[in-house]
Amino acid sequence: MKEIKQFDVVILGGGLAGIYTALNIDSSLHVGLFIKDKIERGSSNLAQGGIAAEVVWDEAKIEEHFEDTLKAGSYLNNVEATRVLVSEAGKNIEKLLNFGVKFDRNPDGSLVTTLEGGHRSRRILHAGGDDTGAKIMMDLRAALFQRKNIDVFEDEMAIEILHNDNKALGVIVINQQNEEVYVLANKIVLATGGIGGIYKKSTNEKIACGDGIAMAHRAGVIIKNMEFVQFHPTGFYVEDQIGKTFLISEAVRGEGGILRNIEGVRFMEKYDKERMELAPRDVVSQAIHREMFDTWSDHVYLDITHKSKEYLMQRFPTIYKHCLDNGVDISKDYIPVAPVEHFLCGGIETDVYGHTSMNNLYAVGECANTGVHGANRLASNSLLECIVFGNRVAEDINKSKSTFGKIDVVLPDMVFTHKKYNFKDIRVEIRDVMSKYGFIVRKEDDLELAKKLLSKHYANLKKINVFSRYYYETLNMVTVALIIIEQALERKESIGCHFRLD
Ligand SMILES: Cc1cc2nc3c(=O)[nH]c(=O)nc-3n(C[C@H](O)[C@H](O)[C@H](O)COP(=O)(O)OP(=O)(O)OC[C@H]3O[C@@H](n4cnc5c(N)ncnc54)[C@H](O)[C@@H]3O)c2cc1C
Repeated sequence: MKEIKQFDVVILGGGLAGIYTALNIDSSLHVGLFIKDKIERGSSNLAQGGIAAEVVWDEAKIEEHFEDTLKAGSYLNNVEATRVLVSEAGKNIEKLLNFGVKFDRNPDGSLVTTLEGGHRSRRILHAGGDDTGAKIMMDLRAALFQRKNIDVFEDEMAIEILHNDNKALGVIVINQQNEEVYVLANKIVLATGGIGGIYKKSTNEKIACGDGIAMAHRAGVIIKNMEFVQFHPTGFYVEDQIGKTFLISEAVRGEGGILRNIEGVRFMEKYDKERMELAPRDVVSQAIHREMFDTWSDHVYLDITHKSKEYLMQRFPTIYKHCLDNGVDISKDYIPVAPVEHFLCGGIETDVYGHTSMNNLYAVGECANTGVHGANRLASNSLLECIVFGNRVAEDINKSKSTFGKIDVVLPDMVFTHKKYNFKDIRVEIRDVMSKYGFIVRKEDDLELAKKLLSKHYANLKKINVFSRYYYETLNMVTVALIIIEQALERKESIGCHFRLD
């Protein structure tokens, strides 16, 4: 007997995109929020620097945010979506404050703002110094758990979208008891985050396997701009470490941090004379990559030693402590850093209301391609994207609630095997291939080789249908890795974070 659940709205993902969307959905609607891990895990909880927003309505300032976003994105951005992003920022920050989020404030009560790469003015709000994501999410979770219309299911992973005639009808979930549950809904929102788990080193947690993107792809939904993987220039470098990498926030450069090569020489002048360390991430990552190559090193340094210990402990408490725990006193020592995978600019294609190419299916947050990031994301615009478009998705759903009713669906007969493979070797190879051939610098023959290697695993995995979370995560990883490589092959020119050596 198949277990069936029905909701008005199903949201996949308990990050900022998922929770903020849920909180903005009309409280008369029954929402099921499914999260594949613990609610405290995921990129939103790790965000350090902050959230970019012109809070006071000032046309000129908002225009500057718009232009900075386009410039960082190499003008490949969707102009309509970018306008929405910057002009609805203030309204959604106001909503965050009303949900109970506590941003850092000056003694006079005004919001503290900082500067980050690519921004021409101080417009980044933060919370708890450099603990922005954790603080925002803690406050939003408190608001979420007050809501009677939202049921939260942790450790329950969606594996497939149920659809018919290009209309989404629900999802199949593996529940905590490792059973299959058919979850039906009038509207389905994918808010499943990024893809860092397909690289050897990423600032994301390993759970970021591109699940929503791969599920959407299997359902025939349009996926775009996947070649634009953003590499953060300053992951904390630890020799031989793989997996989740601690991030040294862009805000450290915003507060005057200087990049030096292994010989101690400041080098950004060679690559971007005007913006130096505050050039956008694609420029800085590519500069570091070049500098590491030229100095036969696998890292460079970030120097913030000109700031006092007291200032650093107060402004960057998380970074200060993490570095100290790893033997680096940032008030005295240079911080060893190297670029690592950080953010996916592309994803599931959406319009400005989060509609995907499938009816009743929305995407929001890092898994979506609203087009606001173009070829490269401007720092701190991704948390903003989660709230601006999360709010729009919720408003669109609220407007259509009178059409909601019982879902009629013939449930598919999925035939699963229940073997206990763990697919570890395949995951290791996917990460290896992506870190070698799908990294900062790409070449045609490397990409072709990557495609061949990944296609072999994809074909083998598709032949079997194992009912396990590990099978689906591995299938999703190889699916998104392959899409990245294929779309990277199609784009011959270097632009933004897609750099072609040939
Ligand atoms: C270290 C770090 C620092 C950052 N700093 C900043 C910053 O300062 N400013 C900024 O704007 N951005 C920053 N970013 C980027 C930003 O945090 C993310 O882009 C954003 O939080 C993504 O939010 P999300 O809700 O889309 O995804 P996430 O927060 O990653 O949430 C994804 C959710 O989906 C769930 N999920 C995934 N697959 C499934 C499935 N199959 N079934 C059910 N649930 C599933 C996960 O469990 C998780 O709850 C940072 C990112 C990192 C990693």
